[in-house]
Formats: sequence, structure tokens, C-alpha cells
Amino acid sequence: MAEKSKGQKKFEKLSYEKKNYFEVASKEEREKMFAFAEGYKKFLDNGKTEREACDAAVAIAKEHGFSEYKFGDPLKAGDKKYFINRGKSVVVFRVGSKNLEEDGLRILASHIDCPRVDIKQVPLYEEGGMCFLKTHYYGGIKKYQWTAIPLALHGAVILKDGSKVEIRVGEDENDPVFYINDLLPHLAAEQMQQNAAKVIEGEQLNVLVGGLPYDDEDVKEKIKLTVLSILHEKYGMCEEDFLSAELSAVPAFKARDVGFDRALIGAYGHDDRVCSYPALMSVVENESEHTVLCMLVDKEEIGSEGTTGLQCEVYEDLMEEISLAFGANFRRVKAASKCLSADVTAAYDPNFANVFEKKNAAMLSCGAGICKFTGARGKSGSNDASAEFLGEVRQMFEKEGVVWQTAELGKVDIGGGGTVAKFVANMNIDTVDIGVPVISMHAPYEVISKADLYSNYRAFVALMK
Ligand code: MN
Ligand code: MN
Repeated sequence: MAEKSKGQKKFEKLSYEKKNYFEVASKEEREKMFAFAEGYKKFLDNGKTEREACDAAVAIAKEHGFSEYKFGDPLKAGDKKYFINRGKSVVVFRVGSKNLEEDGLRILASHIDCPRVDIKQVPLYEEGGMCFLKTHYYGGIKKYQWTAIPLALHGAVILKDGSKVEIRVGEDENDPVFYINDLLPHLAAEQMQQNAAKVIEGEQLNVLVGGLPYDDEDVKEKIKLTVLSILHEKYGMCEEDFLSAELSAVPAFKARDVGFDRALIGAYGHDDRVCSYPALMSVVENESEHTVLCMLVDKEEIGSEGTTGLQCEVYEDLMEEISLAFGANFRRVKAASKCLSADVTAAYDPNFANVFEKKNAAMLSCGAGICKFTGARGKSGSNDASAEFLGEVRQMFEKEGVVWQTAELGKVDIGGGGTVAKFVANMNIDTVDIGVPVISMHAPYEVISKADLYSNYRAFVALMK
């Protein structure tokens, strides 16, 4: 190879270009990426709703010697704890040895709820030889994507007597699955003329749950009775118990490697478990002198509202309790804290190149994407992290050799989106968004790169160093 010219050398020194993490990783590091992905796929299959993801996270924390914390419990340096909020969100934390007022908290915040199709409170009806459940979708979905695929039913029912039964049907190979009907192309001429938001409408997202008539001439709704009988036999349910149920139809697909080379993973719910899992693992697997919190929260997909969303004061209460346990001034603790708000971003997709601005879009396999800002139009609704904090995070990553990139969700005027970052920042905590680039975000089956998953993990570990 010819010697590089003076100008070429200078250009290399002064210019910036993002790198493909697979390309620059050593053989050992690549092996680690692939090994890490195996645990992640199990986590995905074990937790398809926030309740199940919460349980799965608690199980992993327990395996690593963490124990439950409740408000008011004593805390000391070295403690490994988890705080469960209503079975739908969990904060896994490690108490460090550093002074809280000087060092603050190191926070990883991600969400464990995903877009899905929720069952209504009076859902069951029979028509045309079929029995269905009425639904109301949760989060931003393209409704037409949820028809004609196998679905599983997950959730909890509070029976009349107050007892709770958990439902999970459609995940085991021997389970039946459920289904949302679509129209055959032969009769779809009119449907195909509709815009995509209208191709399938909300009230058409009815889940097919039965077709066998009950053997009794005198009963009017025979298929409905068959379904009710099975629900009663299996779960002790009557139709009225749907009133106090929280059931969701989710894709019945398992997480699988994608591509001949297995570089990618296809799964339901990468948004945002592809951040939740590495955040959790970084805290349970690594010691730290800092006090580190991994917050796995609910309701991000509908605005972080309610008692389990990040806008609820319970999370700030927990931080205050930790501070109080060490006699620290909570205001000083917050002011010294740092947060990586871990949520996915859109990966540049050459099939839809026109919505991306290529220089600033997250490129698949180029590492976790730091979004200085999110929001829409003029950064509206965004936590716009400061250059100072970005500089700090950049140095942190540099020191640990994290391969990362910056990311912007699409072209300026095309659309946008928000994350939990602004709610943490509102507490007076320096926060920046970071996350894995996703292909087909919010679809029933999304795709990510194993390199980006591992880069996210490395970035979280760097925050703990
Ligand atoms: Mn998300
Ligand atoms: Mn989302």
C-alpha cells in the first residue's frame, strides 16, 4: 500500500466518521456480543408485558444476590436491592461507597411496556360462527400490522372474590394462539384504496378466540358459552370478571436470530427491552463505588402517566429515601446525579431512506445512539441535553472504549418522538438519551443488531465506573 499523503493523514486526524462496531471489535469482543444476545433473547421470551418483564428482572436480580427493599428499610454501602412498584415497574439498585451529596446517583432509566392490543372491559361476543374479544390498542401501532399473525394472550384478572389469576396462553408450542382477521385480496379493492391508517380501524382489531358451539339446543350464543366454560374451568372466570381484568394480545413470536450470519435479532418488544436488559445486567453484574439505579418503568408508550409511569413521584420518593438513609441533602444529591435515559431510536433504513437524514441518523451496528434531543418540529417536547453533559458522557465512553454514535430520529420536519428523559431531567438531574437503533420500531416483530445491544451494555457499565 502506498504511503499516505500528508493531507490524507491530516484529514484522518481532524475528521469524524462513525464506525461499524462488528468491524472494529476484536474476535473476543464479537464472541461476547453473541453470548450476551443469548441471555437477551431469553429475557424477551420470558417477559412480553410489563408485569412479566418486571418478574423476569426481579428473578435475575435475585439470582445475583439482590433482595427486596421497601420504603423505610435501612440501607448501607454495598447493599444490592430491588424496589417493586405494583408488579409493573422495578428499580434495581446498588448502594455505593461514595458520598451521595458529592457523587449523586448514577441512573439508567428504560421502559418495559410495549405497544400491543389490550382487551376491553366488556369484550366477548359471538358472530358468524366465531367468538371474538373487542380490543383497544395501547401505544403507537400501525393497526394493519397486527392482523393475520399468531397472537398470545397475557395478563391478570381480578376475580369477583378479589383473588388474582394470571393468564398466559399462546407461548407454549402446545398452546392455541389467537388471531385478528384481515380481508382477502379478492374482496379488498376498496380497502386497498384507503390510506394505511384506515385499512384496518380500531374497532376491527377483534381477537378471534373460539369457534366450537356448546352442545345445547336451547342456548342462543353457543360458541360464547364454550369459551366462557373454558375460562371458568381454567381460571374460575365469569364474563363479568373481564370488568377487572388487564389482558393484552401480543405477538406469539419468539425472539430469533435474523440473517445467515446471525448478526441481528428479530423479536416483539425490542422497544425498549433492548435497553432494559443491558441496563439490568450492567447493574447486577458489575460492582460500583457509585450508587447506581436501574429503573425499569411502565407506561412510556402512552406518556409515562399513572402510578407506574415515570411521571409518578414514587421514583423520586425512592431516590429521596436512599438519600435520607445516609443523611444526605436530597437536593444536593439530585444536582450531582447523572442519568442515561435508555430508549431505542430509529435505525437508518435504506428501504425508507427519504425519511432519514443520513449523516445524523443512527446506523445499524454502529453502536448505541446518543440523542442529544428528541421531540418534534423545533425540538418540542424534548430534553435537550447540554454540551457540557454530552462532553462528560463522551469522556466516560472514550475511557472505556465504548463504540457509540449520535442519533436523530428522522429528518427535521418528518415527525418525532419522546422518551422518559425529560421527566428525569425535570427532577434537576443531568440526563441524555441513549439507545439501540431499531428497524421497524413498534411493529409486531422488530429487528436490532447484536453489536448495538452489546454497545449499550458497555455504555451502561461505563456510567458505573
Ligand atoms: Mn421506547
Ligand atoms: Mn416506543
